[in-house]
Formats: sequence, structure tokens, C-alpha cells
Amino acid sequence: MIQKKICLLGASAVGKTSLIKQYIEGVFSDKYLTTLGVKVDKKQVQLGPREIQLMVWDIEGIDRYCGFQPKYLRGASAFIIVVDHTRSQSLQEGMEIFQLAQETTNIPAVLVINKTDLPEQWHWTEHEVETRSHMFADCFRTSAKTGEQVDAMFQAVARLCMAD
Ligand code: GDP
Repeated sequence: MIQKKICLLGASAVGKTSLIKQYIEGVFSDKYLTTLGVKVDKKQVQLGPREIQLMVWDIEGIDRYCGFQPKYLRGASAFIIVVDHTRSQSLQEGMEIFQLAQETTNIPAVLVINKTDLPEQWHWTEHEVETRSHMFADCFRTSAKTGEQVDAMFQAVARLCMAD
């Protein structure tokens, strides 16, 4: 079976681990456990007549001390930048990681605005989303809590992997 590697990147606590848990196990937890280093999960994905195995890499949020390490993207077919709909700072951090990642790879990236079940507490206008989303192959608004758009987002990323 074809294996494809994808990476979730973004600031700490934006919901990377929760999105993966919702996608793979269909569960959500309010407890916050920082991912240390890297965790890899697998999921079989059906894309029309083809089945692929998605290797989903959960990468520790950008760290003040060691920063984002592009080496984790090695061998990946696509990556996801996750930002928190309630925290504007996470957009800046996400874009910084995106730029660093782009210095080492030109694989497609998807922008994910997570936690849409919570009220928006920042002024991220449609225009700003539009401007930034042009840099990405796709853009999704998700909730790891309710599951909104989570499967659709990973399915779209899997499809991008097949183009590679
Ligand atoms: P990570 O550091 O990016 O992997 O973030 P986590 O997945 O550990 O999530 C950080 C915190 O945000 C946890 O307390 C989660 O329960 C919470 N969280 C993650 N996604 C969502 C979401 O879509 N909605 C809500 N309400 N909380 C979320």
C-alpha cells in the first residue's frame, strides 16, 4: 500500500493533537497534554479506487528555545498549518512556521483555523483570511471538539498527497 507522510505544524495549544485524535479515534478531550517532540499516527484512507496509508506526524509547537525544525518535514507529501480561531498570536506564529518550512520544501500546505466551536475573540477579517489563504493549497475551518470539517480537511490533504 502507498504510504504518505503529512505533518501538522503550528503554535502550542492550537489543537494539533486534538485534530488528529478526532480524525483517528473520533474522540475529543479537554485535557491539555503537550506533545513532546514528535508523535506519529496512521490511518488508512480510501481515495476513489485507491487506498493509501496516511502517516500523520504531530510536531511539537514552535519553541522559544529550539524553534521549528524543518528536518521533520523530510519525506512529507503535504503539511498543515494549524491556527487557533480564538488567538490572533497563533496566526503570526503559524505564518512564521509556514515561511520557515517553505525555505526547505515546496510540498503543498493547508491552512486550518481550528476551534470554530468557540466564539471568535480577535478581529481576523474575511479579507485577511483570503489574503493568506492564497499561499495555501486549501483552507479549512475546523473544530476538533465537534468534529466539524475534520474528516473533510484530512481527506483533502490525502488527495493533495496523491498529486505528489
Ligand atoms: P496542540 O498543542 O496544538 O497539540 O493542542 P492540543 O490538541 O493539545 O489542544 C490544546 C487545548 O485546546 C486542549 O485543552 C484541547 O482540549 C483544546 N482544543 C483543541 N481543539 C479544540 C477545538 O476545536 N475546540 C475547543 N473548544 N477546544 C479545543
